Amino acid sequence: MKNIAVIGAGYVGLVTGACFAQKGNHVTIIEINQDKIAKLLRGEVPFYEPGLDTLVANAIANKTITFVTSIAQALTDKPELIFSCVGTPSLPNGAADLSYVEAAAAEIGAAITDYTLVVNKSTVPVGTGQKVQAIIAGQLAQRGITVPFDVASNPEFLKEGDAINDFLNPDRVVVGVESPKAAQLLRELYDPFITSDEQFLCMNRPSAELTKYAANTMLATRISFMNQLAILADLMGADIDQVKRGIANDRRIGNHFLNAGIGYGGSCFPKDVKALIHMGSEYHFPMTLVKEVDNINHFQRVWFINKISTHYGPLLKDKTVGIWGLAFKPETDDIRCAPSLDLIDDLLLRESNVLVYDPVAMPNISARYGGALTYATSAQQILEESDFLVILTEWKEFLEFKPESFNLLRDKTVFDGRNCFNPSAMQQAGIRYLSVGRNHRAVPSTLPRSYDGTSAPTETMARCRVVASEAGEDGQATP
Ligand code: NAD
Repeated sequence: MKNIAVIGAGYVGLVTGACFAQKGNHVTIIEINQDKIAKLLRGEVPFYEPGLDTLVANAIANKTITFVTSIAQALTDKPELIFSCVGTPSLPNGAADLSYVEAAAAEIGAAITDYTLVVNKSTVPVGTGQKVQAIIAGQLAQRGITVPFDVASNPEFLKEGDAINDFLNPDRVVVGVESPKAAQLLRELYDPFITSDEQFLCMNRPSAELTKYAANTMLATRISFMNQLAILADLMGADIDQVKRGIANDRRIGNHFLNAGIGYGGSCFPKDVKALIHMGSEYHFPMTLVKEVDNINHFQRVWFINKISTHYGPLLKDKTVGIWGLAFKPETDDIRCAPSLDLIDDLLLRESNVLVYDPVAMPNISARYGGALTYATSAQQILEESDFLVILTEWKEFLEFKPESFNLLRDKTVFDGRNCFNPSAMQQAGIRYLSVGRNHRAVPSTLPRSYDGTSAPTETMARCRVVASEAGEDGQATP
């Protein structure tokens, strides 16, 4: 059992803290966002993550978790390990904004008095561990004292929506260390989470830092590959679902991250892909494959939204467009870099009436768009009051609708960015159903004229909403 401090009560920090507390450690969580800390002190979880409220409530009841607003306050509990879980949003040039990481390191250096293992859990570019070490050493020098400390990297691989399960039962734990003591402390801490030594992957710090980018970029590459293939499938009269079946049964390939759709979003893939491209450019080594992954993902959104505007043209001005799903994926309220933002912006420019529904992300969307949108209270209401429907998140409750339900839509038309329904069943129900890579039974697909397949599309649609100029003080994209 250890004393641990966790900096940042976001999607990663709060899950990390609650899971360490669940294993009997004492955890102090430091959060500077006033709204978040006020909620946490009332015992509320400030965002949606299944099961997290129960875990936090148990930890509060067992007195294994406490919440404070500064690292200096957290040090009264003498934590042996401090986990830094602050945001690392994209800067306009694609680089990771390290200002929150650096500020946290400076606070640590200004306050520690005993040996501390500082662990970077945020996704950070290679070399950040070294930077953090220099910042802490600089602070200690200013204080005129010597305090032993180590800096380790421990990238996090949890996925929002299933974060607790991922944290409690990790496929692997990656740690990047520069001292045997750091390795030993982390091995002891993670012992209750793993079943074998093989799951604990100890390496040097740069390798651990790069591993996180490698994992996210590999997954993003699979998605972009399938998305590009899906458009080709549409043009050729093939069905991307059948193609997926044909390759996913090959054990060398497997079936994960092969679903075609409107493209990946969220707070991680878009920014991490861009950060890896930027890291390559810093070493004068162009990451050509990764650049195309990013270009394809952007193009996918343009292509999908273009389908809608091509279909309706100027008529969109008088249409009520219903949107199912605003979060970047199901089981989260996170709208950072979600495709819904690009579609909504496009529709508002065209002066459409936009009616939206999401089971949990409505507060985040209304904080961003306010009265510019109309907010439905159910998926059913969208069908009853819209001309046509656009599906952007594959929430389970949407999948339960029968094809006949879509006859309620005035135009009996559905644009499905997540391939939720069977095209034949939709067609039989009399629905005009446009999905991704399965349109051989529907209308022929067209490409936006600007795309020649070799360079980035020239449409002006924003590439991603997670940019520094939009990030709030807490490193989150606005809301
Ligand atoms: P987040 O924006 O949800 O949370 C960051 C929190 O840190 C915010 O609440 C912010 O107020 C707080 N913070 C910033 N500076 C602070 C300081 N000096 N002291 C105390 N609190 C401070 O971010 P997140 O989604 O949890 O991501 C955090 C990091 O983990 C990022 O680098 C991200 O790339 C990485 N990551 C995220 C996920 C995910 O699914 N969200 C998964 C794996 C890794």
